[in-house]
Amino acid sequence: YFLLKNKLYDKYVKGNIIMKKTVAIVGRPNVGKSTLFNRLVGERISIVEDTPGVTRDRIFADVSWLNYSFTLIDTGGIETDTDNLIPEMMRKQAQIAIDMADVIMFVVDGKAGLVPQDFEVADLLRKSKKPVIVIVNKVDNSRLPDDYYDFYQLGFDNMYAISSTQGLGLGDMLDEIVALFPKEELLEVEDNSIKVAIIGKPNAGKSSILNALIGEERTIVSPIAGTTRDAIDEKCNINGIDYTFIDTAGIRKKNKIYDNIEKYSVLRAYSAIEKADVVLVVIDATTMVTEQDTKIAGLAHEAGKCVIVVVNKWDLIQKETNTMRDYTSDVRNSLAYMQYAPVEFISAKTGKRLNNIVELINKVYESGRKRLSTGVLNDVIGDAVMLNQPPSDKGKRLKIYYATQTGVLPPTFVIFINDKELFHFSYQRYLENKIRESFGFDGTVIKIIPREKGDKNK
Ligand code: GDP
Ligand code: GDP
Repeated sequence: YFLLKNKLYDKYVKGNIIMKKTVAIVGRPNVGKSTLFNRLVGERISIVEDTPGVTRDRIFADVSWLNYSFTLIDTGGIETDTDNLIPEMMRKQAQIAIDMADVIMFVVDGKAGLVPQDFEVADLLRKSKKPVIVIVNKVDNSRLPDDYYDFYQLGFDNMYAISSTQGLGLGDMLDEIVALFPKEELLEVEDNSIKVAIIGKPNAGKSSILNALIGEERTIVSPIAGTTRDAIDEKCNINGIDYTFIDTAGIRKKNKIYDNIEKYSVLRAYSAIEKADVVLVVIDATTMVTEQDTKIAGLAHEAGKCVIVVVNKWDLIQKETNTMRDYTSDVRNSLAYMQYAPVEFISAKTGKRLNNIVELINKVYESGRKRLSTGVLNDVIGDAVMLNQPPSDKGKRLKIYYATQTGVLPPTFVIFINDKELFHFSYQRYLENKIRESFGFDGTVIKIIPREKGDKNK
């Protein structure tokens, strides 16, 4: 992040937390919001790792433009609980954009011209004081519609004509968007705290857990001047270790209006996860893992964060001899992609096993930051290869030359081999398991990156 002092304007530092900018698309129905979203996000949306339930109907994705990368949100894809009342729905969608975004793209329909509903959206956005850019969509050729200038009546100076279907005008529009990103003074605050995000569906007990963990012993991290986001982080010190809990405003605020909007919860979880080192995935023991949980947990997995599955409200469960074992296997089956994550059963209400959570946070964070020496790593891989020969195909056998750890959080290993085609997933998994057996890495993803070595004998 020290690079930030120079050229990378797309991120700013809050403590040591690097925050990516967020851009939201708003507008009345049918102006082309989702068409524009898909156009800007393009193929990127489907590339994400295949974690069940995560990629389906995604309303947010990362977009890169020049040196910038930002998260784009299609608020039109957020179904509210008032779908049949369009003005109410637009109001909620606009509010979500105002809460989450650094820059708002206000889309209007260049074919239909200005309509009264556009004014309703404009009124909400104007009050927000966020930078707004009016996007006149469906201008499918180089001629501006006759009533183009009417859109200035909405009261925003920044206006761009585009065609989402033809891909016209997008470059200039993106240039303007990134130019509007707030350029906060970069603060260099020494911050070695462990960043923790508590995620989970509404009512799982996130705010109870937060209170039980840090209670009153907290300090609010004041937002940097000039930022209007409503996300607030809180710091605390437990047994000599500093922690920053991410987006506690989102956790504490009993925002029941939005709680019922599933996609909003998922979106909020996504932005918290991005800033975290360790993610607590909170599951309600009385409902166990739901589809929404799978989605939210999948985001933490994809982001390669340290993860702890916290099954809360354990006090409400009728217990017999094997109850905990059965619940554990239920979690394991439902969150099959996260076998590495420890599962803990707690009660935020009675405080049962809550202390274990703090210990687990420390432990998984240590796993995530563990660095193996190249010698030790290659010994283990060498032994693994001797024990179980690498696969071969059409007379050609996979050769593993050398491995080295290139990163942490998550631990990342580059393995030099003769032929990527031969390095099947099952063998990668085998090596991963051997590394885990030898070194632990509880609670963290391990990334393996195969790299072919120019080998003349292959
Ligand atoms: P949303 O409700 O705002 O998300 O709107 P959609 O993205 O679903 O688009 C509504 C309709 O407008 C669809 O039939 C799109 O094909 C059409 N549309 C979107 N963008 C353009 C455009 O740039 N030009 C034209 N001619 N039609 C468009
Ligand atoms: P959030 O929406 O995820 O932040 O959930 P809250 O922390 O607001 O909790 C939702 C409801 O569950 C509240 O009524 C809490 O009192 C209750 N609750 C939270 N944790 C526990 C628990 O461990 N046991 C019991 N019995 N109730 C809990």
